[in-house]
Amino acid sequence: MKIEIVTIGDELLLGYTIDTNAAHLARVLAAEGVEISRRTTCGDTADSIATAVREALDRAGAVITTGGLGPTSDDLTKPSIAALFGREMLLDEVHLAWMQERWRTRFQRPMPESNRQQAMLPAGARKLVNNHGSAPGIWLEDERGRWVAMLPGVPREMRGMLADTLLPLIRERLGGGGLVVRSRTLRTTGVGESHIADLIATIDGGVGDVELAYLPNADGTDLRLTVRGALPGNADARLAAAAERVRSVVGTAVYGEEAADLAAVVLEMCRKRKLKIAVAESCTGGLLGARLTAIPGSSDVVRGGIISYDNGIKTSLLGVPKAMLDEHGAVSEPVARAMATGARSATDANVALAITGVAGPDGGSESKPVGTVWIALDMNGEVEARRYNMVGDRAEIRHRSAQAAMEMLRRRLLA
Ligand code: ATP
Ligand code: MG
Repeated sequence: MKIEIVTIGDELLLGYTIDTNAAHLARVLAAEGVEISRRTTCGDTADSIATAVREALDRAGAVITTGGLGPTSDDLTKPSIAALFGREMLLDEVHLAWMQERWRTRFQRPMPESNRQQAMLPAGARKLVNNHGSAPGIWLEDERGRWVAMLPGVPREMRGMLADTLLPLIRERLGGGGLVVRSRTLRTTGVGESHIADLIATIDGGVGDVELAYLPNADGTDLRLTVRGALPGNADARLAAAAERVRSVVGTAVYGEEAADLAAVVLEMCRKRKLKIAVAESCTGGLLGARLTAIPGSSDVVRGGIISYDNGIKTSLLGVPKAMLDEHGAVSEPVARAMATGARSATDANVALAITGVAGPDGGSESKPVGTVWIALDMNGEVEARRYNMVGDRAEIRHRSAQAAMEMLRRRLLA
């Protein structure tokens, strides 16, 4: 089954509201085996709604809209689509009585006149129950079996109505054929996407007929494998085979699957080895410590850390010699190493990670441009350090630095 999504609202076009409804619909429906063949966003005018829905209906024969079901004058979804189907708008007495009762009992006042609007339904419409608000959703179908389902714009109401009412209807239509879309995501960090692509190109037969998407982000590169239009067992088996193939060449660059967090992975590795971690952070200002301690149960591994933002603190709390700072600068290999060693001895940890870098936007120089970051790891007195050239804005450079530090530790523990 193919369905198109039309999300309605000027605020979406203006960029003030992010279209989370379309994303949610797409994810939920794909899992049911429905192909979302196109997504459209249009403004709040009767004309643009009618045009967008007519075109979508012509292509796919099935359309889900969100938004514009409310009681205000900018809520034109129902009348425009009713006109498209050649249906008049009729007052639904049952719904009107239900709303009036709801106002009396819930809000202890008469229903505003403008809400009558919500009880006006296209002739021949089927109501979709709204358990989270007052506007019903609407299902409208023509003689050829083409249909439009209109859902509210408020994300919570939309999600509720989808789950409670619309999905059962769609499943009925799918008739238990049971073909699904399934995905599996492998998370990698520390290797560029083109390098991964080169590795995957060496696999004889690639990943077979499984789709592979490269999704670079501040954590690294996620590899998403997808199978469409298969029976669940078959989809899972094909995904497992493809994931095996990818892992066989990408190897330990994969730190986890789905929503895996590198912090949790590293903590677990340390826990197994009974290692205690400390951190010394300059440009990340506590981000690494925050990532680690965001994981429940981290207290048995994390000792603590020092945010040595100022050079004076690097000296007084971490024991970085002032002469070293003067000679090499704060963003340098010897300072990163000294910070890691200082943090380890100050906290009595086995392992310490240190980060010092130029997060920008200011403070860069020719030899140390914005994005230059030194990361050091002291493990029981054995110290390693590496220079990184991080890309992105300040927030990304800081995020990538924390991620790279954890990856340095993971690599060491794998070795
Ligand atoms: P209401 O009865 O509140 O008027 P409605 O069904 O008419 O509901 P809209 O007026 O279009 O819906 O939107 C209501 C709220 O939901 C707005 O605050 C809007 O920002 C949010 N919203 C609308 N569409 C989307 C969308 N596609 N993704 C995320 N949020 C949305
Ligand atoms: Mg509205």
